[in-house]
Amino acid sequence: MNVHHYYPIDVVNGPGTRCTLFVAGCEHQCPGCYNKSTWRPDSGRVFTLEDENRIIDDLNDLRIPRQGLSLSGGDPLHPHNLSAILHLVKRVRAECEGKDIWLWTGYQLGTLSDAQREVTSLINVLIDGKFIQALKDPALIWRGSSNQVIHRLR
Ligand code: SF4
Repeated sequence: MNVHHYYPIDVVNGPGTRCTLFVAGCEHQCPGCYNKSTWRPDSGRVFTLEDENRIIDDLNDLRIPRQGLSLSGGDPLHPHNLSAILHLVKRVRAECEGKDIWLWTGYQLGTLSDAQREVTSLINVLIDGKFIQALKDPALIWRGSSNQVIHRLR
């Protein structure tokens, strides 16, 4: 998996103070996409074990308490990203007690593959659906367009 940005302290992408990772790779090609530079799975830089360890350490850092981890992009559920994202969310579940995981995807919950569902079975909140320009609403919180749905999975 490749990534574009990691923010160890973020108060914009999800509730509370969070760690946020923007991954590379998205096949949805939504007109009006705010993040076209992330579309190619080989854009950005390689996500390493050191990156993963840092996220775990940041989530467990008591000096700046984090509510959880946000995964965005790009699309964390792009087929190219699934094994690395699954590894990461399994570690957060095992090593970061009490932290929630939010994930943004252009796929829809009802049409996810088994491999994508394996990831969503471990997260707390999924925001799904492509960005549709005609349904764009700046008043929406944590969504770009009104077709997108916030699913509270656990
Ligand atoms: S799903 Fe998100 S990142 Fe992918 S094309 Fe649509 S708006 Fe852009």
